Amino acid sequence: MSLRVVSIPMRTRFRGLTVREAALVEGPAGWGEWSPFLEYDAPTARPWLACAREAAAGDWPAPLRAEIPVNVTVPAVGPERAAEIVRAGGCRTAKVKVAEPGQSLDQDADRVAAVREALGPDAAIRVDANGAWSVEDAVAAIARLDRAAGGLEYVEQPVESVEDLARVRRRVAVKVAADESIRRAADPYRVRDLEAADVAVLKVQPLGGVRACLRIAEDIGLPVVVSSALETSVGIAAGLALAAALPELPHACGLATVQLLADDVVTSPLLPVDGVLPVRRPQVDPDALDRLAAPAERVAHWADRLEEVER
Ligand SMILES: [Mg+2]
Repeated sequence: MSLRVVSIPMRTRFRGLTVREAALVEGPAGWGEWSPFLEYDAPTARPWLACAREAAAGDWPAPLRAEIPVNVTVPAVGPERAAEIVRAGGCRTAKVKVAEPGQSLDQDADRVAAVREALGPDAAIRVDANGAWSVEDAVAAIARLDRAAGGLEYVEQPVESVEDLARVRRRVAVKVAADESIRRAADPYRVRDLEAADVAVLKVQPLGGVRACLRIAEDIGLPVVVSSALETSVGIAAGLALAAALPELPHACGLATVQLLADDVVTSPLLPVDGVLPVRRPQVDPDALDRLAAPAERVAHWADRLEEVER
């Protein structure tokens, strides 16, 4: 299996990163992306490799749709910048970051209201707290943000634990989505068993690939939103393959993240047009692999990492 490692500058700092490193593995059907974040240990990085191998083997289910609606992501910026971002995106769904450390609920409410104002009454607005609230704070914040938004589509991971997620869900009128509670949990089905969420956010790499996610989607019995792990277009194609194969897709997906990277490894990157991404597998550009090649010591690091994960 051939391994290439690329190092791509980020357009804006995201998840504390200014550069995204990704390994690409080639198989009979083309390239797959293996890009577990650098701090992840071997057991955590293993399902990510299964996803890359599945892509390289071409073992994806047949698509049921040709394009996937996607959301624009609004970081914890001020209201004017938030409005600018959603207007430029062309998306009819916005995901707004809230509960950022050091910011207030007033700032969150102003950002959410600005997004509604910019997108109009028909757009869907969801918020993501990344587990930062307590149960009591979540109940109050969700009511406030729901009013500021003139109706929220859902609130993603308002609190950290699955138990608290279930508690919050019983006390608010807004739908609750589980993200970290599925992806980072020893048992993703606790969300189902505790009736802790209305929506499941699935990411193909951390959950072991397209087919593994399809099984989880079926077993968990909730509407799915497919989201990215800050991949190049090679990794995004796997997310699109899942979104295209799901029996139902009632919500826009979080796969419009290629624009966070300053460059890409394919000839035609998977960037949304009018709020949708086409379901296709982009062609890897050999020149881009050279242009973005990581330094030798980073390639050696990834080769060691691969060996450890395969062990
Ligand atoms: Mg999330």
